[in-house]
Amino acid sequence: MQNLPLAGYKPERTEVSVKDMTVGGREMILMAGPCAVESEFQMQEAAAAVKTAGGTVLRGGVYKPRTSPYAFQGLGREGLRYLTAAAKERDLLTVTEVIDPASLEEVHDQVDMIQIGARNMQNFQLLKLAGQSGKPVILKRGLSATIEEWLSAAEYILAEHNPNVILCERGIRTFETSTRNTLDLSAIAVIRKISHLPVIVDPSHAAGHREYVPALSKAAVAAGADGLLIEMHPHPEEAKSDGAQSLTPSELQQLASELVTIAASMGRSMNGAGSGLDSLRQKIDSIDSGIIELIAERMNVVKYIAREKSPDRIRDHNREQEIIKRLGRVAAELNCPAELVREIYASIFDHAIKAQLQDKAHRLDSAAYGR
Ligand code: PEP
Ligand code: MN
Repeated sequence: MQNLPLAGYKPERTEVSVKDMTVGGREMILMAGPCAVESEFQMQEAAAAVKTAGGTVLRGGVYKPRTSPYAFQGLGREGLRYLTAAAKERDLLTVTEVIDPASLEEVHDQVDMIQIGARNMQNFQLLKLAGQSGKPVILKRGLSATIEEWLSAAEYILAEHNPNVILCERGIRTFETSTRNTLDLSAIAVIRKISHLPVIVDPSHAAGHREYVPALSKAAVAAGADGLLIEMHPHPEEAKSDGAQSLTPSELQQLASELVTIAASMGRSMNGAGSGLDSLRQKIDSIDSGIIELIAERMNVVKYIAREKSPDRIRDHNREQEIIKRLGRVAAELNCPAELVREIYASIFDHAIKAQLQDKAHRLDSAAYGR
């Protein structure tokens, strides 16, 4: 008996490539779209919004596993056409959920990735067929599944020689009722320790309320998620399913721009698939704010450092050279000109010294006057 040989830990993390997209690499992938495909126009609007936000994948359920048999069950084949046409128009990849062998067969040649939903995580026949299909699979964590059970489910797909499995944490059932589920952020860290598979997060089904989605998304990226799968509806108040947890297009765009600096702090980029002047400018604005916040924080620390130095030793050229050298290497690795780093830091050092001298003088004055 083998014990999780395929989904288990390997030193190199697996990257799942789908056309130009790689999940599990340096880039943090944004996937978004409505819970359910409802109309051609809805999907056109949704695709435009995902593109503007810098997303790479358009989601939309056409076969919906609903808790009630009387709830909207999805548009099936017709919906699939709306999903794929809208994605093609905006050069986005597609993902949709499969719920049984027939729906898998139906979507197989139409979409780029298939999703196995939380309710089907232990539908072993479906897992095997998904494995045999060779399609990239987003495998959601079951509502009450342990991480080990989740990895065992992934194992069914991998065992059919399909290595393209992306795990998706979407919240688990707990005693808490103020959110629809409880986002298990620790699962991301655990998966990264005990598995090699990429892991993304669906904050929407975890939260159940759109207002919590930004916070959970940011936390997920900070915890090391390889991507986000977010529900967004052009008009959430009209949604046939999960409207309350769906972001509006502008909320998605705002969130995406705020995620840029968090992703960067995790060594990840969020380039999206190219996304229009306004959206790129919004990203730049967000990065610039992040840069200023960090410089302000640096200036703050610098003052405390001055208090540890004797007055004649405020400027330390060796230390400055060390910093420039180290950052030059970091910059080179990131394809950023080392010259830029040198120029920026020459100025940062000058201002730091000025601030330190001022702080010292001020403190000496205060001491002299007994204040
Ligand atoms: C969905 O993605 O719309 C969905 C039904 O998700 P889950 O299987 O995580 O409930
Ligand atoms: Mn949904």
